[in-house]
Amino acid sequence: MHTYFRAQNIFTKQIKQIFIHGFPNYSMDEDKIEALFREVLKEIGIEENTEVLKNTPKRIAKSYKEIFAGMDDGNEPKITLFKNPGYNDILAVKDIPFYSMCEHHLLPFFGKVSIAYIPGDEILGLSKFPRITKFFAAKPQVQERLTKEIADFISEKVKAKGVLVIIKARHMCMEMRGIKSINAETRSSAIRGVFKESKETREEALKLLLED
Ligand SMILES: [Zn+2]
Repeated sequence: MHTYFRAQNIFTKQIKQIFIHGFPNYSMDEDKIEALFREVLKEIGIEENTEVLKNTPKRIAKSYKEIFAGMDDGNEPKITLFKNPGYNDILAVKDIPFYSMCEHHLLPFFGKVSIAYIPGDEILGLSKFPRITKFFAAKPQVQERLTKEIADFISEKVKAKGVLVIIKARHMCMEMRGIKSINAETRSSAIRGVFKESKETREEALKLLLED
């Protein structure tokens, strides 16, 4: 009887995982992260039997689940495409906020993503731009890869004729430590399709993305 209930439990857990997190091939072990962070905090000098040592590791593990949700392919945004009503020009979404963690120091970097694209046969639902941004930001990242992944995703999934992504970000690993370059802004861009080929079209997109 015991074995039966245990098997049923495991089964229910797996089903839940599929619905909540997509495919069950990725799972972050929160208990393990909690235990490891307890060791880190002790090593930093946090004393035994304090509220911090008792609860902070659990909070970190919980927040990592959210901050690194992009590690799970099951969280990839579902793409809603609509028939293009005959729009062959540029659509731009400016200043989508994002928060990510640099993979070199595991410190935050954050800022704004601006995206311009020229649709093909289908157009992308507007709310998908922030969702795509959030998904690719939610893992240990570097700004270069984040820029590229957003551009490639839109380029491939939406079969856009052109995509231009600009990211402006502040990196805490540059501000809190090391060079202490406070308020420095790191800018990156990824250019695909017609924006690469036509200077005129690219300039039009840049105008939309950078001017107020
Ligand atoms: Zn860094």
